[in-house]
Amino acid sequence: MLETPGGILAVSFQPILRFAPSPNGPLHLGHAYSALFTWQAATLLGGVALLRIEDIDIDRSKPEFDAAIQADLAWLGLDWPEPVMRQSQRFPAYEQAANALRRLDIVYPCFCSRADIAARSSAGDPDGAPLYPGTCRHLPADEAETRLARGDAVQYRLDMGKATAMTGSLTYSVIGPTVLDRPQIRYARPERWGDFVLQRKGTPTSYHLSVVVDDAAQHITHVTRGRDMEASTDIHVLLQFLLNLDTPYYSFHRLILDAEGRKLSKSKGSPSLASLRDAGWTPQDVRTYLGF
Ligand code: GLU
Repeated sequence: MLETPGGILAVSFQPILRFAPSPNGPLHLGHAYSALFTWQAATLLGGVALLRIEDIDIDRSKPEFDAAIQADLAWLGLDWPEPVMRQSQRFPAYEQAANALRRLDIVYPCFCSRADIAARSSAGDPDGAPLYPGTCRHLPADEAETRLARGDAVQYRLDMGKATAMTGSLTYSVIGPTVLDRPQIRYARPERWGDFVLQRKGTPTSYHLSVVVDDAAQHITHVTRGRDMEASTDIHVLLQFLLNLDTPYYSFHRLILDAEGRKLSKSKGSPSLASLRDAGWTPQDVRTYLGF
């Protein structure tokens, strides 16, 4: 807090952004675009970009991918403050947030398999997955306890109907195409995701829960992410309200597509940054190719 000559109090405000890759494969040009967009946005805003490693998926996350991410970003000429936050170190914080939601009585155990859900679902969520049909929403408490006691695979879901009845309509601010554009107010539509999974056995969190808890813990002011994550922002805005956390500004950038118009991905054989580097690409070649 600063006292200005006119006697007006001014709050110093440093924009904080983040690049949050999951270390379950090598970075490709899509990740490079997202990283360069984030660091450029931080520069335009006079702020800082953090690196956060989203390694909640213990089976798929590998330390060698974590190290390779840092090497690739450094090769691109990007740097970030240490220490780097790693989500695998933060399970107690996620558990605490999930318990805060439990106290609102909007979380319930679900024992459905993927096949059960696919068989009963009659609609899709924005990602095209079968919308949860609500099978376990009103499971009697004693039945749930019996199944938990015998160790059945469980997921904890958020009761979307109850949650949205608590929040009413929610809005958030979207900035784009550049982070210097004027914010546009948008309504969040979390109900289109149905009762999404908050925690599952073996992973006491989910992408949605951890991203919201960590964006708040790191005081992120601007979330820059690809357009493929635009719809899931609805869930994040809902969780921020329920957990009493600030909602940052959001900016959704374009996706880098392959020759067939598909989003780049490791599973579709998109070349890694490391393989481009080995083939003689320079960091400047990557920047030029991606328009930076
Ligand atoms: N960890 C997510 C990913 O690698 C992105 C996180 C986010 O921008 O919210 O796709």
